Amino acid sequence: MKKSKIKTCKYPNCNKEVPSDNSLFCMEHRRSLKEKRHVVGTAIGSLAFLGATTLANSIKKKKI
Ligand SMILES: [Zn+2]
Repeated sequence: MKKSKIKTCKYPNCNKEVPSDNSLFCMEHRRSLKEKRHVVGTAIGSLAFLGATTLANSIKKKKI
């Protein structure tokens, strides 16, 4: 009976242990993904802004 399951990094071809149970990636990939997320987050942020504007416009059109 072994209950402790060691979680490994979800990054392809990486089998390193994750620092904590809620982490999906190892320290190395957490760091690299965090940097990537910053770039992606900015892109998604501007897309969300555009989407919100479009949505607001369509709602306005429906009301009129
Ligand atoms: Zn990794």
